[in-house]
Amino acid sequence: GPSTVGSAVIPVVNRLQDIFAQLGAASTIDLPQVAVVGSQSSGKSSVLEALVGRDFLPRGTDICTRRPLVLQLVQIGKAGDQSSSAVEWGEFLHKPGERFEDFRMIRREIEVETEREAGTNKGLSDKQIRLKIFSPNVLNITLVDLPGITKVPVGNQPTDIEARIRTMILSYIKHKTCIILAVSPANADLANSDALQMARIADPDGSRTIGVITKLDIMDRGTDALNYILGKVIPLRLGYIGVVNRSKRDIDEDLSIVEALNNEENFFRTHHVYHSHSDRCGVPQLAKILNQILVQHIRIVLPALKARLNTQMVTVVKELRSYGDVIENNDERRLILLSIITRYCEAFSSMIEGNYQEMWTT
Ligand code: GDP
Ligand code: MG
Repeated sequence: GPSTVGSAVIPVVNRLQDIFAQLGAASTIDLPQVAVVGSQSSGKSSVLEALVGRDFLPRGTDICTRRPLVLQLVQIGKAGDQSSSAVEWGEFLHKPGERFEDFRMIRREIEVETEREAGTNKGLSDKQIRLKIFSPNVLNITLVDLPGITKVPVGNQPTDIEARIRTMILSYIKHKTCIILAVSPANADLANSDALQMARIADPDGSRTIGVITKLDIMDRGTDALNYILGKVIPLRLGYIGVVNRSKRDIDEDLSIVEALNNEENFFRTHHVYHSHSDRCGVPQLAKILNQILVQHIRIVLPALKARLNTQMVTVVKELRSYGDVIENNDERRLILLSIITRYCEAFSSMIEGNYQEMWTT
């Protein structure tokens, strides 16, 4: 089915990103990323954690996410291989070679690294923290956790905090290849949603925005968010998914993510309104839709990427020819890298073409 289609394709994306990073061209090539946007405490970090299936992000009722966190999920081992499922670890770009197998230590390191750059008094910084998570149980995608929008400066925040956060968020979601998870809590009016407002600025036609409605469990009694989820209040081309994340108490009581996902499943299955809309409810459904969108997205941006690489190739080959027999080491390396990338692109596009057909014909 579609959810496995993506897992077959995406390792190549990660490989491409690594190679581009070596080439020093990471910033010039837009590969798909998934970024969460929304107001503070709307549940952005919680949604990301649930998608990853591990506890490792600072979450809470206060400002927790104070630097952009670029999270590259890397699938290792075979899916369903029980023997390897115990081995999962994280690695930070700023601590190369150091394996974090204890996920509490990953959270701790994010906190320490946040404070190192942004201070201890609620300050923000737009310098990224880059973290790779290696696991047999993840979809291979790059996720970006961003600070939430706030309006009133607290602690060491500058007076123009709202404008600064908006600029930071836009610098990620403006890229045509960025998939936007616009997170809005069900217990606030959707017409006031910062998430949807920002998403609309960056993606006016809504072709890469998925609405996520959180906190369905704590709505005013007698109300539900069905109209939000069905897009009847604010329509979105790709639609909405409703989710239930862990509450503050769940977190304080160390409720595991597996238990939380079970609770969520139970909540939707037994709910008198949501039970008949299961295709629009739950974190697993969100993961599935994300995966489909990612594959389609890559398929669209790939031809331009290939054309660009070919141009670069031609330039380098010309340059090399002009040197005659004396080939500088660096240029040789560049050429080799470029040919590797081009080959990856070829392999990648044929994979996608194949999978894309499979996706729509099965
Ligand atoms: P962020 O600031 O948008 O990253 O929000 P967090 O993920 O840090 O969540 C803020 C607070 O809301 C935390 O205490 C979470 O436990 C709580 N929370 C998030 N989503 C839900 C939800 O779906 N239901 C409930 N009851 N609480 C939630
Ligand atoms: Mg957060």
